[in-house]
Amino acid sequence: LNRRLGGLGTTIFAEMSALASATGAINLGQGFPDTDGPEEIREAAVRALREGKGNQYPPGPGVPELRAAIAEHQQRFYDLAFDPDTEVLVTAGATEAIAAAMLALLEPGDEVIAFEPFYDSYTACIAMAGAKRIPLTLRAPSFRPDLDELQAKITPQTRLLLLNTPHNPTGMVLSAEEQDAIAALAIEHDLLVVTDEVYEHLVYEGTHHPIATLPGMRERTVSISSAGKTFSFTGWKVGWVTANGPLVSAVRTAKQYLTYVSSGPFQYAIAEALRLPDSFFDGFRADLQRKRDLLGEGLRAAGFEVYQPQGTYFITTDITPFGEKDASAFCRALPRRCGVVAVPNSVFYDDPDAGRSQVRFTFCKKDDVLREATSRLQRLT
Ligand code: PMP
Ligand code: GLN
Repeated sequence: LNRRLGGLGTTIFAEMSALASATGAINLGQGFPDTDGPEEIREAAVRALREGKGNQYPPGPGVPELRAAIAEHQQRFYDLAFDPDTEVLVTAGATEAIAAAMLALLEPGDEVIAFEPFYDSYTACIAMAGAKRIPLTLRAPSFRPDLDELQAKITPQTRLLLLNTPHNPTGMVLSAEEQDAIAALAIEHDLLVVTDEVYEHLVYEGTHHPIATLPGMRERTVSISSAGKTFSFTGWKVGWVTANGPLVSAVRTAKQYLTYVSSGPFQYAIAEALRLPDSFFDGFRADLQRKRDLLGEGLRAAGFEVYQPQGTYFITTDITPFGEKDASAFCRALPRRCGVVAVPNSVFYDDPDAGRSQVRFTFCKKDDVLREATSRLQRLT
């Protein structure tokens, strides 16, 4: 392994899911739902496959039907207008969009400021681009970013702000005021913004406002999202980028040599998913909000300190009330102790102290699974 990737092992999500399989524990670690997305969308994928749509290489930027549906979605929910031919790019999940954006937009040695805890692929992709990550640490209990600290971290080497709202793993959702302040700094220092909005439809408090909607931001922002989380098809790996023409063209250049194209028939199905009525999006959010409260109550009853997430399908907790400090050791022992798998947030920090005792649980699971998991956790002593 080269020096850029030295220190990166198996992703924590794969490691914890393997631990769940090996032990038969309930997996509240990796964020994937245990109920697949809508039947009609699965049918749409089968139809596409049978009709021979997307069984061979789809067009590089994505099939026109999906690019049109992505542009319509941005217009419908955020009043953002994108030209589907030049300002939309379909990717192999948000993961590839993040990688292609970093590889296309960064020079070796550039600095990227990102929220810590970092979603794991940010660290890897910044490293693969030869750039340097600069953490802006989100601290419990509120996990609000300190914008004075952000300002202080901007140097002549800063090229890009990598945002994530709603934020995985903390569930923090940037407020309108925070976004205004971040946008003002990006404009003042002429920075690019890459924003990962895969949980855009899972906001329980406040609302999701893409930073691209703010004055002066559209031309410097690459917005990333994915069908995995919104439609509960994480295995289909359909993601996308929206940005102005030159930025999309830059990201597309890198993307061509990563996967070239992906997910042919699924692209047609996701085009239909993006056009589902508001009742789908509202119902999905309401269901997950109820699950958040169910898991949150169970975790509190078990003795965890629970940080209420404003968005995403994760709850970050603290294990200090159990007299424990090391989230990583705690998570590795948890399946044996009580048959549950969770993810240690400590691995998402550069600062070894900042997240040492934080553990993340996902609630995108059936109610009885959440109930069983929390009743097992309540037996922890
Ligand atoms: N960004 C964040 C914040 C995520 O939680 C995830 C996991 N869904 C991704 C990106 C990757 O998304 P995808 O599965 O579409 O590649
Ligand atoms: N986004 C998912 C999570 O945070 C995991 C996706 C993955 O395993 N790459 O759990």
